[in-house]
Amino acid sequence: MSVVVPLSLGEAVEALGAYPGAMVLAGGTDAMVEINEGHRRLGHDGSPMTVVAVDRVAELRSYTIDRPRGRVTIGAGVTYTELLAEPLGSLLPALAEASRTVGSPQIRNAGTLGGNLGTCSPAGDGLPVLSALDAEVLLASSSGERRMSVHEFMVGVKRTALEPGELIVSVTVPVLDGRQGYAKVGVRNAMVIATASACVAVHAPERSIRLALGSVAPTVIRCPDAEAFAAGSVDWGTGTVDPEVAAEFGRLAAASSRPIDDHRSSAEYRRHAAGVMARRLLLRAFPGPADTAAPTEESETR
Ligand SMILES: Cc1cc2nc3c(=O)[nH]c(=O)nc-3n(C[C@H](O)[C@H](O)[C@H](O)COP(=O)(O)OP(=O)(O)OC[C@H]3O[C@@H](n4cnc5c(N)ncnc54)[C@H](O)[C@@H]3O)c2cc1C
Repeated sequence: MSVVVPLSLGEAVEALGAYPGAMVLAGGTDAMVEINEGHRRLGHDGSPMTVVAVDRVAELRSYTIDRPRGRVTIGAGVTYTELLAEPLGSLLPALAEASRTVGSPQIRNAGTLGGNLGTCSPAGDGLPVLSALDAEVLLASSSGERRMSVHEFMVGVKRTALEPGELIVSVTVPVLDGRQGYAKVGVRNAMVIATASACVAVHAPERSIRLALGSVAPTVIRCPDAEAFAAGSVDWGTGTVDPEVAAEFGRLAAASSRPIDDHRSSAEYRRHAAGVMARRLLLRAFPGPADTAAPTEESETR
């Protein structure tokens, strides 16, 4: 087995051009588990296996904020810990919220957004947020670059649109104007893979409400019926939502899901949980006007 350690994006693309069957290794928090558990074989069609370790590629480890165009481009090698830190945490709060739920501090220090995309588990915590925000993925290979929506990228359970020799370079995410949030349920409170997950993101200038669900279908899904219903039913003027509207939003979300029974959960529980999370996230996104009452004398002197 040989390990190539490129120091630039050009070197990484070149290495993958030379060894299209190579395994890309970022933080290794998924890849090494797969190797240790024998789900990924060392060697490709009997040939020696090459690993391209991309954690020293500066272009993948960085991000750029384009304020005039209202978007952020995040290198595939940016870690969850970095997504939680400022300024990314404030610009993309649902992504920060999702990142906070990933594994442990050690996993968040090593695990990357590009690795979450590369694995493409329906339970990946970054993916419902990228879906709700309509993120775009940039791929590169020795034959050039291509861009696609995150929905085109996620093809199936742990299946992506990546071709041999292609590298995930970055993800471009619009900065929305409105509240957004992420929720996840699992069998315990921490260090847990999502049994079901949901992201709601509001973009007030367009009066759009996006809802993406994780772990309830082969890939992350959007819920267009629930989105259209909510956009036409919330009170945009006061920033409030009637609890009955939120309940119907939850019902439509549950109806969009296509979950399976497996060792983590029954399909019925997943569907129910998706509906509950969607309802709660919508209520959270439309809490009504902030309390503007003048401070009391007592509170002013504290
Ligand atoms: C204890 C533990 C807890 C975890 N908890 C969670 C959790 O709560 N939520 C969650 O979503 N995940 C969790 N994970 C899974 C994992 O941490 C994440 O999916 C993480 O984002 C993977 O990133 P990585 O950099 O480690 O990827 P790697 O393991 O290095 O790679 C993962 C896959 O992506 C490919 N890849 C990586 N980077 C690129 C690139 N730039 N271009 C092309 N392909 C690429 C690799 O070839 C591989 O197939 C957990 C893992 C462990 C071990």
